[in-house]
Amino acid sequence: MLDTKAGDEQKAKAMAFSNYSDHPEFLRTLTQGYVVLILVFVGLLPSLAIAYLYFFQIPPLRFEDHGAHEIAIGISLLQSGFIAYVTYRCYLRTKESFLQWLTLGFLGFTVIYGVHGLFTGFSHDHPMLFTLYGPASRLVMAGCLLSGLLAYGKQAPPTLQARPGYFWWAWLGVFALIDVLVAPLAFSAWAKLAQQAMEIAAMGIMLSCALIILVRRIRSPLMMVYVLSVVFFAQSSFAFLLGPSWNHMWWLAHAIFAAGFTALSYGVIHAFLTTGSFARVYSQTELLDQVRAEKARTDDALLELQRAHEALEILATTDALTGCANRRSFEARSVEEISRVKRSAAPLSFVTIDLDLFKQINDGHGHAAGDQVLKDFVTLAKSILRPSDLMGRIGGEEFALMLTDTPLEAATMVAERLRQITENEVVSFSGTCIRFTASLGVAQYGLDGDTYEATIEAADKRMYHAKQAGRNQVCAR
Ligand code: GH3
Ligand code: MG
Ligand code: MG
Repeated sequence: MLDTKAGDEQKAKAMAFSNYSDHPEFLRTLTQGYVVLILVFVGLLPSLAIAYLYFFQIPPLRFEDHGAHEIAIGISLLQSGFIAYVTYRCYLRTKESFLQWLTLGFLGFTVIYGVHGLFTGFSHDHPMLFTLYGPASRLVMAGCLLSGLLAYGKQAPPTLQARPGYFWWAWLGVFALIDVLVAPLAFSAWAKLAQQAMEIAAMGIMLSCALIILVRRIRSPLMMVYVLSVVFFAQSSFAFLLGPSWNHMWWLAHAIFAAGFTALSYGVIHAFLTTGSFARVYSQTELLDQVRAEKARTDDALLELQRAHEALEILATTDALTGCANRRSFEARSVEEISRVKRSAAPLSFVTIDLDLFKQINDGHGHAAGDQVLKDFVTLAKSILRPSDLMGRIGGEEFALMLTDTPLEAATMVAERLRQITENEVVSFSGTCIRFTASLGVAQYGLDGDTYEATIEAADKRMYHAKQAGRNQVCAR
């Protein structure tokens, strides 16, 4: 758990990071409304161009250039073939039904629209043979886009996933069959009617695609691109209905379709470069929210880690029973202090302590009572030490003190004071009173030894002298 201070810090950080959402509600609503207006305006821009041309162009004006048409179609076929392949790669990654239909839409368009380009030369002698492949390709693409939309959010069926070859080849066959069937239709009496019916159907389907997305409230950013594209496609079909071949309206219809197609291809490329999915590409707002949540989580984890690290360090350097430094940490800090003292030449003394006849306390009052005595002794010693001094538990009932900036005489006085208050201390444990004493040896670094080990050994020797001299004593020589 975080403590309050750390929690506040985190909240402040999160606030700083989330400033972008701190605008007044009405301003946010207003700007969001403006974004919708921009989208609607961009979406209906082709209609403005169509209206302009419809009312102001001179109808007989034509631009009949077969080469230009063939080049334009060649470029769009390269584009649609490439985008079909990229969409297919996205499909392979995510196995989304939507992408499967989108691939088919691009593929069908490429296969059927290619013939329209191929038959440019027939535009005079067999105009319907030339024209009809256009609406046919747009209708096939519309059908695929609608099917994809109806399957939005679903995975491709397992049978398709298991035997993909059949599926793709079968559909390629269907598109080739459409190519074959359009030709006799173009020579029939129904040709003109078929052209208009296909264009109207394509327009209707494209508009229903846009409606379905809006009604289902699909808000993925790439699906907004998709809406823009289908709205463009619908308007291009409308322009095709208005303009006979080679007329300026007819060229405009091509341009509108190309713009829609390019927008959709942007969506595909964006999906390909990110998640491979149209549904799971996030808006910047969603991404920012996610980054914010992740950052808060990382900060939490870091704080926890820091705490755990500190706790571990305390565990590794502290004696669990008494809370003073353990032997390893006492030695390490003493050696550190000695290297500091070497430079400054400040006096540094050590006291080693052994509690007297401790075995008897354990035997007489129990091990738990002995533990209590050890704890009380450390509390007692700490009460007379300065913050710069250090106390360590060296063994069972053996302790040591490191007294900084303290020469031998002063250290002896500290040891003597500790001996006295120990002698006067009464430990009460489970209704009994326990008294105990300690024997202490004092040595000064540099005077009694020129290393940590040598100084402690000198102090230890003196402590044993104190024992031998009858215990409850301080020995400093
Ligand atoms: P002396 O005055 O000669 O030092 O006698 P002593 O009994 O203190 O000496 P000895 O070294 O024989 O006994 C030390 C005892 O300290 C033995 C051991 O059981 C006890 N002891 C060591 N560690 C602990 C501990 O953590 N808790 C308790 N309760 N007793 C401990
Ligand atoms: Mg001992
Ligand atoms: Mg002892």
